[in-house]
Amino acid sequence: MSDAMLRLTAVRKAYNHGKPGEITVLKDAGIEVAKGEVVALVAPSGAGKSTLLHIAGLLDTPDSGLVQIADTEMSALSDKRRTEARRRDIGFIYQFHHLLPEFTALENIVLPQLANGVSQADARGRAMGLLEQVGVAGRAQHRPAAMSGGEQQRVAFCRALANSPRLLLADEPTGNLDPATSDQVFGALMTLVRATGLSALIATHNMQLAARMDRMVRLVDGTLQPA
Ligand code: ADP
Repeated sequence: MSDAMLRLTAVRKAYNHGKPGEITVLKDAGIEVAKGEVVALVAPSGAGKSTLLHIAGLLDTPDSGLVQIADTEMSALSDKRRTEARRRDIGFIYQFHHLLPEFTALENIVLPQLANGVSQADARGRAMGLLEQVGVAGRAQHRPAAMSGGEQQRVAFCRALANSPRLLLADEPTGNLDPATSDQVFGALMTLVRATGLSALIATHNMQLAARMDRMVRLVDGTLQPA
C-alpha cells in the first residue's frame, strides 16, 4: 500500500483524433496526491484542467496512461465497477453549485445519501452536521434561489462530501464569487476538508487561494510541473 490517494501516470488525452483540428490536451501528465493532502492545480483557462479533473474523477478515460485511486488501477475495471468507485470514493465540486432548485439545502445533501442506502434519520443528521461545519445551518430549509452565491456554494461542498468520499476534486470552486466572498467560502471548504482528512485536488486561477493549500502544481503544455 502506498500513501497515495490519487496517482496519474503518463496520462495522454487528445480531442478530434486524426482530424485537422486534433489537439493534444494532456501529453505526459503525472501527479500524486497523498492521503490527507490538498493540492492546488493552477493553469490558465483552456490549459486542460477540466479534462484532467474528469479523468482523475473517472468521468472520462485517458487515451493512454494510468489512473490509480487508492492503489486500484481504474482502467482495468469494468464500466460498472468504475461507476461504483466514483460514487463511493470521489466528491466533485464545480464552479456553479448545480443544486437541485426544487429542494431545500438540507434535502440536497440528504438525497445522495438516500441513493446510497443511508436511512432518512442518519442522512438528515449528517447533512445538518455538514451545514454547521460550513456555517450555513440556518439556511437548511431554504431553497437554492433563496440563498446567496456563497451560501449556495457552501451547500454544494456539503453535498460533495455527503457520502464521505476519500478524494475531492474541485474545478474553480469559488470562481463565480466576488473576491471577499471567495476568500471566506474557500476558508469554509478548507475547514471541511481538514476536518474530514480527505485528499483534494483543487483547480484555481487564484494564486492567493493556491498558496493556502499544501502544494501547487501547474499544468503547462500538457504536463504537470511543481510550482
Ligand atoms: P480548462 O478546464 O483548463 O479551461 P479544458 O480541459 O476544458 O480546459 O479544455 C482544454 C482544451 O481541450 C481546450 O482547448 C478545449 O477546447 C478542448 N476540449 C475540451 N473538451 C473537448 C471536447 N469534448 N472535444 C474537443 N475539444 C475539447
